[in-house]
Amino acid sequence: MDKLQAVKGMNDILPPESARWEWLEGKLRGLMARYGYQNVRTPIVEPTALFVRGLGEVTDIVEKEMYSFVDAMNGDQLSLRPENTAGVVRATIEHALLHEGGRRLYYMGPMFRHERPQKGRYRQFHQIGAEALGFAGPDVDAELILMCRALWRELGLVEARDLRLEINSLGQPHERRAHRAALVAHFEAHHDLLDDDSRRRLHTNPLRILDSKNPALQPLIEAAPKLVDHLGDESRAHFDALRALLDAAGLEYRLNPRLVRGLDYYNLTVFEWVTERLGAQGTVCGGGRYDPLIEQLGGKPAPAVGWALGVERLLLLLAEAGVAPAAVPPRAFAVLGAADVLPRALPAIEALRAAGVSVLMHAAGKDGYGGMKAQFRRADASGAAWALIFGADELARGVVALKPLRARAGEPTGVQVERPLADAASWAHELLDDNPRL
Ligand code: ATP
Ligand code: MG
Repeated sequence: MDKLQAVKGMNDILPPESARWEWLEGKLRGLMARYGYQNVRTPIVEPTALFVRGLGEVTDIVEKEMYSFVDAMNGDQLSLRPENTAGVVRATIEHALLHEGGRRLYYMGPMFRHERPQKGRYRQFHQIGAEALGFAGPDVDAELILMCRALWRELGLVEARDLRLEINSLGQPHERRAHRAALVAHFEAHHDLLDDDSRRRLHTNPLRILDSKNPALQPLIEAAPKLVDHLGDESRAHFDALRALLDAAGLEYRLNPRLVRGLDYYNLTVFEWVTERLGAQGTVCGGGRYDPLIEQLGGKPAPAVGWALGVERLLLLLAEAGVAPAAVPPRAFAVLGAADVLPRALPAIEALRAAGVSVLMHAAGKDGYGGMKAQFRRADASGAAWALIFGADELARGVVALKPLRARAGEPTGVQVERPLADAASWAHELLDDNPRL
């Protein structure tokens, strides 16, 4: 039989790595609660049309990265979600979530894109995202960006050193069209200076010329008209207001006129949090305003803004930056004399767990429980602070022995005490205390 393996570019997340994921997810839930964002969970599979209409037909994602398939049962065209904004907007429309005003929502979960797997780029990857739907002002733009900063700080990342913010304004579609026309005119006026690639792009996608790596073109690119100069009063006012709020919050950012983001649906504010620590996969979090999307997907017109961060990239960055969450070992390890102690030991262990003590129970192998010595070695290796000894002697006296496994300040190591087996809830707190007076 062929060896069964995970699909290329899709990863198993196993202990101890999974503990870092849970730690991060916990921090995020706390953050979202503090900012008033509520959780949504949309299906992983959506109609392909949602992404074609939502992201735009000629985006990289829709053209070449989507896992699309036909449902063999009924012929429906479906796709694994490559991102979650379209799904959140679909759900918002479907359930009339904006009926009573704006909504602040967040999600976390796997996304799928058929890309070339490499460090920080996978085919199944995970995003955490926040969306503020139904709010037009730059105030929520600022809120969303500051929320990211709060997260970096809470995780122990250092702004400027580990991550920095880049922002831009894409204005409105008609402003982008005016800018595009000015770009074409600029490059046409210097047609003789263009390389073949750029000449080809001139009328198909002139914005792409700005991304050219050809050094000979750089002066021409530098001199090209900038979108900021084509923003109308309203767009400019929105951008200025956002910048004033970021300034007031003491958040530094770089204006990046090249920042466009990959998807069609963005307008006005766009931003990215980038790092130098991850090589080519340097964007950890990206977002912006997407005011046209709700209407584009069939809803009543309403503005929206949001961001999504790549969990794998954020965890890689945390590792690069030397941030490691403390491992959480069990508080106690239950050492069992022999199988016949179990009917009396197990209720006590359950009572301790119910009282909040994490107890790792030694479990039988093929040959039963094995010797006490081997069990104590396991107790030590588990990192537990206490061994709970359910030996035949102890049980005969109706007690369990509590043996501290880690030295504590001001106490000799290994002072063992006994506690009544029948009433574990009454002394459970002693196991939780880091410095008990036994
Ligand atoms: P990139 O330019 O790196 O391809 P993107 O613009 O396609 O990123 P978005 O669609 O904005 O990315 O998704 C938001 C975030 O999700 C990214 O900033 C990144 O951290 C993460 N991300 C996107 N694609 C992948 C992937 N294939 N593997 C891992 N993380 C990803
Ligand atoms: Mg991409």
